[in-house]
Amino acid sequence: MTERVAFVTGGSRGIGRATVLSLAAAGHPVGFCYARDEVAARATSDAVRELGGTSFATCADVADPKSVDVAFTEIERELGAVTVLVNNAGITRDGLLARMSDEQWTSVIDTNLSGAFHTIRRGVPAMMKARYGRIVNISSVGAQLGAPGQANYAAAKAGLLGLTRSVAREFARRNITCNVVAPGPIVTEMTDEMPQEWKAQIEATVPLQRFGTAEECAAVVTFLCSDSAGYVTGALVPVDGGMGMGH
Ligand code: NDP
Repeated sequence: MTERVAFVTGGSRGIGRATVLSLAAAGHPVGFCYARDEVAARATSDAVRELGGTSFATCADVADPKSVDVAFTEIERELGAVTVLVNNAGITRDGLLARMSDEQWTSVIDTNLSGAFHTIRRGVPAMMKARYGRIVNISSVGAQLGAPGQANYAAAKAGLLGLTRSVAREFARRNITCNVVAPGPIVTEMTDEMPQEWKAQIEATVPLQRFGTAEECAAVVTFLCSDSAGYVTGALVPVDGGMGMGH
């Protein structure tokens, strides 16, 4: 295993936190950002320390390119040049389309899709210089299946696939890979907010008949970030209990 500096967006909770821990356990120094939950970010950093790993947390808004630049600069200063990037930060602002506000639409597109564009644009020069890069974008099974009340979310998550495959083609010559992980329903604070009867309905549509765990997502992300995944690029890897059957 070669040590690489990683940057995980949205590392304070859920899938992002599990990914920070998994990359740190694999021996990588991990920088991560969070939107506002400093207490949760500190808990992630403490958990990395307990593993014997190294991390650096910074508050940043991925929707704002200036904030992304500051986060990268801080991580570079603390840990070194970033060659592994995981775009995990995401939000939901659900609502039926006819009543969806401009703010609901743009906040989700800005965070879930433009956020990945901002970090990739800021991150690739160092990867090109290193002639090595691993980028993983966290999409959702909802990108393929769609969902009522989630036009903004599904559009942003589907957009990540086009972004990923363009990046994969554009930077392949530089030994930079870019892949998408598409989780199905995963136990995190994002899904904790759902009413119990929705959760039961969703569970019934999952062939493996349960929600996944953040650690199950993180394991796949960590593999795609590894040297061993060097011949995998432009791929969409579902972690969805069979919900999309490989979509
Ligand atoms: P959580 O809501 O548990 O955590 C979201 C993370 O993103 C937090 O660390 C949050 O920071 C951070 N964040 C939110 N907005 C911003 C922003 N503008 N800038 C920087 N960081 C931000 O999410 P999950 O762990 O459930 O989901 C992680 C990813 O996986 C998301 O992209 C989500 O869409 C996707 N996904 C999740 C599924 C699920 O079932 N949970 C299913 C499919 C996809 P803070 O703690 O400070 O708020």
